[in-house]
Amino acid sequence: MEVVPKIHQFGGMSNCYLVEDEEMMLIDTGNPVNTKKILNYMKNTLNRNPEDIKTIVITHHHFDHIGSLGKLKKVTGAKLAAHKDDANYIAGKEKPEEPFISKIFINLLKIIYRSKTVEVDILLEENDKIGSYKIIHTPGHTPGSICLYNENDRIIFVGDNLTDKGDKIGGPPSIFTLNMEQANESIKKLENLDIDVIFTGHGKIISEAKEKLKEYIKML
Ligand SMILES: [Zn+2]
Ligand SMILES: [Zn+2]
Repeated sequence: MEVVPKIHQFGGMSNCYLVEDEEMMLIDTGNPVNTKKILNYMKNTLNRNPEDIKTIVITHHHFDHIGSLGKLKKVTGAKLAAHKDDANYIAGKEKPEEPFISKIFINLLKIIYRSKTVEVDILLEENDKIGSYKIIHTPGHTPGSICLYNENDRIIFVGDNLTDKGDKIGGPPSIFTLNMEQANESIKKLENLDIDVIFTGHGKIISEAKEKLKEYIKML
């Protein structure tokens, strides 16, 4: 579903976004059922081939954002980009440190969803660029959490760093957040950016975002 021109959102357990930038990229991949959803949409609505997705960017390593990563990477042949501090978790080379409650929950869901590990092709760092988007490293929710910011279009993809709370902005879900203090500090980095729309990892996108973000940061 095209939510703003050239950005298509897929909901479910988490959001993922197909972005028609200089090249087509997918931001997060959601759970395994998304593979079919995204490929059908590419074919039937956009009249594009799976290979037109050149890059898959992962906002952070949590299973609900990488569920269909293995399959989608295979079908599209896209390069996988993620922050270097989460790359080893996505590739299954290291076990991530998790808050206690979420550890139990996540491990259970990992078994149910049989999430596969995938090697990361592009290790992202602060200020790297993918097309029109700049990478902002916002650790806290996970060590390698990132935002993707498009200055010209005044939009930002935030993964789980921020959530929609109706007419307000909320922080990351605390039980799944490794270091809340660090997450709060990270969000302060966004304060002076010109942002109209925030694309979140769960729930609705946030419009009139600049003022709401200012209000939220004031409370941190
Ligand atoms: Zn998360
Ligand atoms: Zn999430």
